[in-house]
Amino acid sequence: MRTILLWMARNPWLRQRVPRLAFARRAVRRFMPGEDVADALAAADRLMAAGQGILFTRLGENLTAIAEADAVAAHYHDVLEASRARPRPIEVSVKPTQLGLDIDAEATFAHCDALATHAAAVGSWLWLDMEGSPYVEPTLVLYERLAAAHGNVGICLQAYLRRTPVDLRRILPLRPAIRLVKGAYDEPASIAYRRKADVDAAYQTTAVAIAEAARDGNARCALGTHDVDLVRRIATFAEAAGVPRDRLEVHMLYGIRAGEMRRLQAEGFPAFTLVAYGDFWYPWYMRRLAERPANVLFALRQILP
Ligand SMILES: Cc1cc2nc3c(=O)[nH]c(=O)nc-3n(C[C@H](O)[C@H](O)[C@H](O)COP(=O)(O)OP(=O)(O)OC[C@H]3O[C@@H](n4cnc5c(N)ncnc54)[C@H](O)[C@@H]3O)c2cc1C
Repeated sequence: MRTILLWMARNPWLRQRVPRLAFARRAVRRFMPGEDVADALAAADRLMAAGQGILFTRLGENLTAIAEADAVAAHYHDVLEASRARPRPIEVSVKPTQLGLDIDAEATFAHCDALATHAAAVGSWLWLDMEGSPYVEPTLVLYERLAAAHGNVGICLQAYLRRTPVDLRRILPLRPAIRLVKGAYDEPASIAYRRKADVDAAYQTTAVAIAEAARDGNARCALGTHDVDLVRRIATFAEAAGVPRDRLEVHMLYGIRAGEMRRLQAEGFPAFTLVAYGDFWYPWYMRRLAERPANVLFALRQILP
């Protein structure tokens, strides 16, 4: 089921047609407050009032012309400006291909550089999402350049990739901010763990290593997962290694396990919700269905009146 859903996420014919279907538009509302940034800002204000940090991501990936990246960057500059009027800054999380990584790496760097500068001016952060495996190396290179110039840039690492422990060792000297996720793409067994138990074990080991760097003030540690049991296991190991709980941020996606998130927040974990919005939601939504095939039933139920 996961493989089929991830194939559907990449299929251009479906990409064009599914977003026009009313039932699909109804179903996606579970994971995003709306297509407009105004909907995302309203959701952010509610979550901030409850003490949560917020990250914004406008859905989109793989541009066809580099000029499109200018509009994406301009949008994120507007989001950073909107931060000024709020009790805490909105952090932005971008897909490097949405800023042109596979067309012009230099232009992508220039956009990220400007966004990181703007983010610093409003006390915010710029995060780089991690996409499919062909983009891991160029995204790391982009991160290394940005981290050399800015102290407020984070990167996502994917625990399912066999290379991740090596990548972690490579970027730890940069005093990085790392959002560790399990990984959302369909990667072959030659480069990625495919069994959940293996992914979870790799996640735990990597997370504890990042947490130890955070304890010493050498990293920002964000656990990007809805796997609450895993978060608690990591916290137990990390606390035994002297990492205070307030160094273990938990980042979740809007609309998923919000109640569990509030419980973790009450237990002392800094809580962040990543709010996604925009009209290019199809591949992103299909990856959410692939993570939990029970969501397909929810989507199908939207066909009923
Ligand atoms: C803040 C954040 C940022 C992310 N950024 C990236 C990125 O840049 N690159 C990348 O490859 N991946 C990214 N991901 C996705 C990630 O790789 C996983 O695919 C996703 O988080 C599902 O795995 P899990 O850790 O929640 O654990 P799982 O073991 O999949 O899930 C644990 C439990 O959480 C619940 N759950 C998980 N997913 C869903 C869902 N879709 N719907 C409903 N319930 C669900 C279920 O109850 C499940 O039992 C991100 C995830 C988060 C939370």
